[in-house]
Amino acid sequence: MSEHVHDAVILGAGVSGIYGIKRLTDLGLDAIVLEADADLGGTWYRNRYPGCRFDSESYTYGYSWSQEILDAWHWKELFSGQPENLRYLNFVADTFDLRRHMRFDSRVERMVWDDDAHVWRLRLVDGTVFVSRFVVPSIGPLSMPTVPDFEGRDEFEGDWWHTHSWPDEPVDLSGKQVGIVGTGATAIQIIGAICDKVGDLTVFQRRPNWSSPLNNRLISEEEMADIRSRYDTIFANCAATPGGFEHVPRWGFWDDTPEERRTLWDELYQEPGFAITGANYAEIYFDEKANQELSDYIADRIRARVDDPETAEKLIPRDHGFALQRLPLESGYFEAYNRPHVHLVDVKENPIERVTATGIQTAARHHDLDLIVYATGFDAITGAYDRIRIEGVGGQTLADRWRDSPSTFVGVLSHGFPNVIMVAGPQSVSGSTNFPRAIEGSVDVMAELLRQAYANGHTRIEAEAEAEAEWVDEVKKYQERLLIRDSKGWFTGYNSNVAGHQEGTIRYQAYFGGAPRYNRLVDSLIAEGFPGVTFA
Ligand code: NAP
Repeated sequence: MSEHVHDAVILGAGVSGIYGIKRLTDLGLDAIVLEADADLGGTWYRNRYPGCRFDSESYTYGYSWSQEILDAWHWKELFSGQPENLRYLNFVADTFDLRRHMRFDSRVERMVWDDDAHVWRLRLVDGTVFVSRFVVPSIGPLSMPTVPDFEGRDEFEGDWWHTHSWPDEPVDLSGKQVGIVGTGATAIQIIGAICDKVGDLTVFQRRPNWSSPLNNRLISEEEMADIRSRYDTIFANCAATPGGFEHVPRWGFWDDTPEERRTLWDELYQEPGFAITGANYAEIYFDEKANQELSDYIADRIRARVDDPETAEKLIPRDHGFALQRLPLESGYFEAYNRPHVHLVDVKENPIERVTATGIQTAARHHDLDLIVYATGFDAITGAYDRIRIEGVGGQTLADRWRDSPSTFVGVLSHGFPNVIMVAGPQSVSGSTNFPRAIEGSVDVMAELLRQAYANGHTRIEAEAEAEAEWVDEVKKYQERLLIRDSKGWFTGYNSNVAGHQEGTIRYQAYFGGAPRYNRLVDSLIAEGFPGVTFA
């Protein structure tokens, strides 16, 4: 079989890969994107479930690197929905004619480093081979779905799917008995969106999640014109906050009175998006008492919105404080439980025993279902890497090296795997902040590394082991400082459905030192010619 030879292969045609291919082709490199799916869009191609939308303000999510796109695009909603988001990414790709550099239905299953020739050999599932000097994984932190291995799962005779594989064609839910497993951000969006469209909805909840209102609304032509005129300020504001949003955190929890704190929270609860976490007192992330007071406040909000007190208590998390796992934002989620045909099953109290041909059997009873939706999350951050057999120097695999926790140099390189330049990789700031803001910086670093390599005739780039170990210590330090350190969410690598990620294991997968600190560090690395990286 013939080999395809390139300067750089980008893996993934999502938000990262689209910008990545723009940068690399602008540099004059012979680069190609290999995308496993049938078209571009990544997360916005795959997640087609009802209610799927941004929870970053749309105009802070869009790319900042093209004035042409900023001038042309009208975000119609403050938190834009999936169909529109996919249209946006297609519009960007078409504006710059990027599709011609993309190859779809091209899942890489294995890649092997050749340390004599300084190239990677990549094999697709169909056997096609690509040879490339550099490989740029742009495979996303939440792209490897996980479905629980329930006994009888495959014997169910109705429809079932993970939310990441929600069908493209319309799904008629009217009159259907629908079961949803999970109560993460995805389930919380779906439940709010379909609760008035189904015959009957049963939510199988293991651990409740905190959630607060998204407060979405339309954006008028006039408001969009104003946003366009302020884009420079908007992006500068995002770059200045730890989370990469415009919401600015404040210190001074204990300087204010309890009444003043409640007044602030009353305001933030009505504000759009992540204001409730981003513009809150910073102490809520560090100080258990401060976090407890806020958690108590939000719990009262839930009690006020859910009619049945028993259901309300079941919806209030007790094993983690507010904002200590990735916070889902909701539209009518809590009110869904006030509908007589929406039922909450606590599977801790009443475990799922098996899936049957006609529904789900819990310890207490059988639930008849026509459709089972697994909103059961992802093998986050490292799962998409583990899925590819990546063999580096001496044949070691990346999955083995990262078995207990990933090890990277600023989330961009990993020692022993030369010329793999990760975009928004593990231990970068992307897992912990407004994702596209972090992606752009990450693509810029990747492009700069490749620019320097080609300008200087270097054919091998590798992180030094010592510099990498220092970065891993830095990542641990910032995670340990935060109350997040004890939470069981994907931030810390918890997923009950993935071996080695279950209860009792802590992984250091994201950098929690904040976007400004991370960006300053990366800027200084670029300015100093990448100390900690060996060019050969
Ligand atoms: P998730 O937050 O990991 O939630 C998975 C849910 O499934 C949890 O409630 C989990 O319960 C439950 N679950 C998993 N395995 C189970 C089992 N064997 N039995 C019973 N329940 C089980 O996943 P997600 O909701 O898909 O969200 C993942 C991330 O995607 C979000 O945090 C967010 O970053 C991103 N997302 C973003 C948006 C947006 O931007 N608008 C929307 C949706 C998602 P436990 O908690 O007990 O494990």
